Amino acid sequence: MSACLSGIACGWDGTATGEYPSALKFLQYDTVKIVRFCPEEFSYGAPREMSDIHGGDGFDVLDGKAKVLSETGKDWTEGMIIASEKMLEIAKKEDIEIALLMDISATCGSQVIYDGNRFSENKVYQIGAGVATAQLMRNGFKVISQRDYASLEILYSKIDPTHQIDTTKVDHHEIAWYKEYFNID
Ligand code: SF4
Repeated sequence: MSACLSGIACGWDGTATGEYPSALKFLQYDTVKIVRFCPEEFSYGAPREMSDIHGGDGFDVLDGKAKVLSETGKDWTEGMIIASEKMLEIAKKEDIEIALLMDISATCGSQVIYDGNRFSENKVYQIGAGVATAQLMRNGFKVISQRDYASLEILYSKIDPTHQIDTTKVDHHEIAWYKEYFNID
């Protein structure tokens, strides 16, 4: 799990950057082992600058085709790749079944990330994965975000057979904002 989603204050501002009940619910199951890790804290500590991918997504960063820049323009590409490799190492060692990661992050995003600096006048989103997510996906791990509510409902029911699946929930790529923003029917 992205460490911040479990409540650890590893975010850029030294907080957990919000509370996400959809993720925190997993902490209540005593049959689930949670492995927490924050790739950005591993490389850059907390608090730290915010960072975004420029010129592509997390896969492009791993392939040397895009960069990660901090909000003041520092090149964090290498540190982010090293952090993603550490996350992969932990995922393998712990033999995780699924990674629940914070969407929108340049590191942990899975459905949506920023396209370039989020502080620019015209901040732009793109469909894509962050660097650590790309690293996990490329190595065969399944990734889900805290906003993939429909899929999370299925996970809850697999862990707790008494859980009644809420069929009104949708995943992040199914919400109105996503469809409208990315012009998807
Ligand atoms: S989204 Fe990922 S990199 Fe960012 S604070 Fe959370 S765990 Fe750390």
